[in-house]
Amino acid sequence: MWQIRVVIPAYAIDIFVFCFGLIIGSFLNVCIVRIPESKSIVMPASACPKCATSIRPYDNIPVISWLILRGKCRACGAPISPMYPAVEMLTALLFFGCYQTFGLTTNALKWATFSALIIVLVFTDFRERILPDVVNYTGFVLGLAFALAIAPNDGTANWIARRAFATPLPTPVVSLGDAFLGAAVGSSLLWLVGEAYFRLRGREGMGLGDVKMMLMVGAFLGLKRTLLTILAGSLLGSVLGMLFILARKKESNYELPFGSFLGMAAVLVVFFGTSVVNWYQSMLMGR
Ligand SMILES: [Zn+2]
Repeated sequence: MWQIRVVIPAYAIDIFVFCFGLIIGSFLNVCIVRIPESKSIVMPASACPKCATSIRPYDNIPVISWLILRGKCRACGAPISPMYPAVEMLTALLFFGCYQTFGLTTNALKWATFSALIIVLVFTDFRERILPDVVNYTGFVLGLAFALAIAPNDGTANWIARRAFATPLPTPVVSLGDAFLGAAVGSSLLWLVGEAYFRLRGREGMGLGDVKMMLMVGAFLGLKRTLLTILAGSLLGSVLGMLFILARKKESNYELPFGSFLGMAAVLVVFFGTSVVNWYQSMLMGR
């Protein structure tokens, strides 16, 4: 038997994953700008918001074009936001991180998808205080779909199933259980916090957007890492929020983009959350 073996050098895959991230990042920029304006993310092609000149393909290369043009439109010289290369670079780095951490696996695809969704939410919330429903709900459905394909690692659904049922449940059912648990507890917890804040302060402190965002985050992360995300997001929000208010000299009732902080926390939890959860559990066991 003949066997054909194609050897791909490791750095070729590294470069491919990174460039793929840059291209997806370029598409995420379109989502970030157009979804809050209820515009199509497919048509028309990108144009300068100032002079409406459509952007040529060679001026649309991720990161590189922005650097060559020194952040200005080629036609009219209007400044182009540094957000564009930043989002492209961030997406590429996160995709590369997913590949390095999880290998060329379905799991890496799951976390790269999650990172992409989170990037859109972090930036739309920061710019417009909007966490678009279409992103939250699409993310929730994708989270459930990935749960069916990937074995669970949260352990909570398995723990409940072992006590509730005499025979072991099929893996996809347990996995889906973890996704639903994460989504239900994560979103209810945020809803409760928002409701308590409203009762105490008499004004809206958190929108329903954050609650819906946690449906998606919970479906991807499962119960334990969802709780960790809320904890880390609140800490990040307190620290960065204070700095933000001080730097901008805004009033203390300035509305903070809590969804942005939750999103940053969720991405940190993807890469470091499992170690934190394991450490915490071993602490509990050790007592
Ligand atoms: Zn222009």
